[in-house]
Amino acid sequence: MKYDLENIFAKILRKEIPCDKIFEDENVLCFKDINPQAKLHILIIPKKPFIDIVDFLENAEVEYQSSFWNSVNKIIKKLDLNDKGFQLKSHKGTDGGQEVFHFHLHILSKS
Ligand code: AMP
Repeated sequence: MKYDLENIFAKILRKEIPCDKIFEDENVLCFKDINPQAKLHILIIPKKPFIDIVDFLENAEVEYQSSFWNSVNKIIKKLDLNDKGFQLKSHKGTDGGQEVFHFHLHILSKS
């Protein structure tokens, strides 16, 4: 499978469509899920194009993977999620329920 430049998260990254932004740095963009499944439901996407978590793990440079997780930790801290707790999910492929083929993390929390 080839990365589709017209997927919705690629369009959000190019600012062709809006998002409800929570956080942004040089590595990631974080925004609210448009169809929340919990009181807090946000998405974290790398700014570089990877189809899914396996593509990211296999093909992203180690330095970029490290920077990505560092940015995820910044978001966890910013939203004060460490004490409260949260779910972290990433859907992979059609059998995993993936709908948008730009790698992303879901973070969900009850409050
Ligand atoms: P999945 O690929 O299964 O992880 O699901 C993609 C997620 O992206 C779903 O939870 C959608 O509600 C969410 N989503 C789709 N389009 C948008 C959008 N324009 N802004 C925010 N979230 C979106």
